Amino acid sequence: MQRAQERLGEAGPGGRPRYVYVMADFYQLPFARGLFDAVVIVRTLHHAADAAVVLQGAAEILAPSGDLILEFANKRNLKAILRYWLRRQSWSPFALEPVEFVELHWDFHPRWVRQQLAAAELQIERVRTVSHFRLDLLKRVVPTGLLVAMDRLCQQTGALWQLTPSVFVRAAAGADKPAAPAGAFFRCADCGSTALVDEGTRLCCADCGAAFELEDGIYNFRGEGR
Ligand SMILES: [Zn+2]
Repeated sequence: MQRAQERLGEAGPGGRPRYVYVMADFYQLPFARGLFDAVVIVRTLHHAADAAVVLQGAAEILAPSGDLILEFANKRNLKAILRYWLRRQSWSPFALEPVEFVELHWDFHPRWVRQQLAAAELQIERVRTVSHFRLDLLKRVVPTGLLVAMDRLCQQTGALWQLTPSVFVRAAAGADKPAAPAGAFFRCADCGSTALVDEGTRLCCADCGAAFELEDGIYNFRGEGR
């Protein structure tokens, strides 16, 4: 967060905040439901032991017709399939449930992800596969620019099949879901109320009294240090 602040800064035109920096539990996002036009989850979901809850939470905070841009680690990738067939890998890349291949590193089956998005009432609009050439040998012998150009060409095939270790999905929230109430932004991490009073150095929940500190321009909604 501090490094992002250093790079991107705090204030935008006219001294208004350009970015709001928030630390929070991704199983319990502290934002009003129906708030955001877009939510981006890239290179993150593989650290979720309960990815379904993360996706459900992302869907909740999306505005009507808002877009989720999601990248997930694909367990049914070509390398995993070959390793499985050669008996060098115990878990099946074809099994639907997520696999924890290293502690807190999860891979997901594309169909399982589609099911979770459907359960969260998100409509898939586009699927792109990336990292078609994530192989050390190729990276050593083929110039990076060429590999990137080749990968870009192959990304379109993601709409048809997904065999790469990484997949991007764009999915939209329904147009008829309720938008966030005017003026609402944060949601209390303890009671869910959006009545948070800005006291300058902290936000205080008008309903349950919980306080969330603002320190060096970063809101802290996490359990510790509150
Ligand atoms: Zn509260």
